[in-house]
Amino acid sequence: MIPVTKPYLPEREAYEAYVKDIWQRGWLTNSGPLVNELESRLTAHLNIPHLLLLNNGTIALQIALKALDIKGEVITTPFSYVATTSSIVWEGSKPVFVDIDVNTLNIDATKIEAAITPNTQAILATHVYGNPCDVEAIDKIAKKHNLKVIYDAAHAFGTQYKGESLYGYGDISTASFHATKLFHTIEGGAVITRSKPIADKMALLRNFGHTSPYTFDGAGINGKTSEFHAAMGLLVLNDMQKIIAKRKELSNRYTQNLAGSALVRPTIFGGDNTVYNYAYYPVVFPNEKLLLNLMKDLELHQIYTRRYFYPSLNTLNYVDQVPCPVSEDICTRVLCLPLYHTLTVEDVDLITRLMRKHL
Ligand SMILES: *Cc1c(COP(=O)(O)O)cnc(C)c1O
Repeated sequence: MIPVTKPYLPEREAYEAYVKDIWQRGWLTNSGPLVNELESRLTAHLNIPHLLLLNNGTIALQIALKALDIKGEVITTPFSYVATTSSIVWEGSKPVFVDIDVNTLNIDATKIEAAITPNTQAILATHVYGNPCDVEAIDKIAKKHNLKVIYDAAHAFGTQYKGESLYGYGDISTASFHATKLFHTIEGGAVITRSKPIADKMALLRNFGHTSPYTFDGAGINGKTSEFHAAMGLLVLNDMQKIIAKRKELSNRYTQNLAGSALVRPTIFGGDNTVYNYAYYPVVFPNEKLLLNLMKDLELHQIYTRRYFYPSLNTLNYVDQVPCPVSEDICTRVLCLPLYHTLTVEDVDLITRLMRKHL
């Protein structure tokens, strides 16, 4: 069986050594030594001043919106995981969808200004599949109209733009460290910012608003993660170079094997300015029928792909359903192929051989 993804697992003995230490300390959660160690190692690794570990990437989005006092319209992308949209709604704001660029599959920055109204407060865009948004164009629009920028950077670990981590752009970037993501802590996430006041506010929000054991400032939430999650993160972080190199090798093999077929790949934004992280291997089919046939045939061979993303988020039953023709069309035609650390080049060859029969 070949699933679409498998979590990366480090050496079990190394994890057990951390567990032994956790038992000895009896300190399981609430800003323990491993959480603090992982925070400082990630901050150094990414070279961004403030990173707060959280219990998942959805709480990260909600804390980001709360920290910037967003209550109004939020311009966002219809082509993302559902959490990008649901978090906006959950925080009492209104998602306003702007269609995507047909090549990069990220929000089309040239269409953002037309969607701005007096109620617009923020732009929440996703670096889809780890591919950078047009961060400079978005920054320019945000400055001109006095808007906040949050990036859902759930896929962006390891991507660099102009020599810096992609997490460094916008007022806040949010990360997901879920087991299926490139870097993971089993369940987990983070908020990342260059601003100390914003980081301080998010630290309060993460911990119920506690300023001391008996004093509070604002309505917070429980965004904390545990020592067990941090231990996994410390071990996965050690292996990041190896993990990305393997994905690059497998991705290049797919590309080589599928060359000349009718499948289209998203364009990586930024050209030579971008160092991509190979987080996913999406392909866009000429039509949905072909995608469904091929998906079904692969399943007969116990090879599982994923329609990621599907459906287009502007069609959810709790949003104002404005048309986004590009996103709606791409959602019917895009498929992510299996990609994970223990997948082999032979597996890729088998998958593409089966695919070739349809293409
Ligand atoms: C995974 C993901 C999330 C949610 O993160 P969780 O850690 O699963 O809560 C949000 N946005 C995008 C784009 C994601 O891929």
